Amino acid sequence: MVSIIDTEALGTPMVVAAFLVTGKETALIDMGYQSSAETIMGDLAEHGFGPDRLDYLLPTHVHLDHSGSLGTLAKTFTNASIRVHPKGERHLADPSALWKGAGELFGEELMREFGRPQSVDRKRLKNAADGDVIDLGNGIHLRTVWTPGHASHHLSYELEGHRAFFTGDAVGVCFPGFPILTPTTPPTSFNLEKTLQSLELIRASSPLEFYTPHYGLVGNATQWIDENVESLQSWKLSIQEMTKKGCSAAQISHALTDEACKKLGRAGSEPPDHLRSLIQNSVLGFLRYFEEFEKQLSFTMMPPHTWRAADPDCTGSK
Ligand SMILES: [Zn+2]
Repeated sequence: MVSIIDTEALGTPMVVAAFLVTGKETALIDMGYQSSAETIMGDLAEHGFGPDRLDYLLPTHVHLDHSGSLGTLAKTFTNASIRVHPKGERHLADPSALWKGAGELFGEELMREFGRPQSVDRKRLKNAADGDVIDLGNGIHLRTVWTPGHASHHLSYELEGHRAFFTGDAVGVCFPGFPILTPTTPPTSFNLEKTLQSLELIRASSPLEFYTPHYGLVGNATQWIDENVESLQSWKLSIQEMTKKGCSAAQISHALTDEACKKLGRAGSEPPDHLRSLIQNSVLGFLRYFEEFEKQLSFTMMPPHTWRAADPDCTGSK
């Protein structure tokens, strides 16, 4: 019913997964980088899914490790219905802004390895509404759950009746080769409150299992939610403390990487590149989130004399 497809991201096994869900019809949830398109299509062919034999393509969100190969796959699987959150639609139809934004973060070399996504014909994109149920037949139903936080347009899918979720990046990352739970909180859209709310929303369905893209099946789902909440809160405190001391993003990333190694009993070892780059990216996301949060605070908590100076028409002295 559910098969895991290792997209072998940038040639590395067990870093980015896609999930094939089969009833009478079949859905592919998440689909890795553009550079993984060949690997995914090869795997699908092994499962008996040649051209036209896939009914749904369901990226959880538009980030390149989840939707990068969608444009290419859409051209092969011409009958597949594609669902995306309304806020993600324009990025799939025209990935240029997404590509530019990712380029500023990851640099040219990595972008070449990710591969530039092909655009998806807008006519094929359907908006996914919260609560939508996709009936795959044979009693397999996927319920769409809006889970913002990692990104504002993030979706998860519940495998109804099985208490299982395809979480996308609504939960953190835990690579089998370096199994430590790490928050995935990228700039520019990460929002801590929304991430925590989405975790509670998933918890409310009493889940047993999570299918996670980074990486694989997680049992003890509610315990995993507890651990996710803890890791987010602990990162929040650590990053705030280090920022107060004047540490740079690089120094904070370094400290959190060392801490992860220590927790795993591998102090002094070098974690894999994909984990180090994830930690850096997540630290930048937290810093950006704090900045936005402070902007809002300074707006709502401005002392009265600054309101008057800023807006002389609103002195309250009518
Ligand atoms: Zn991801």
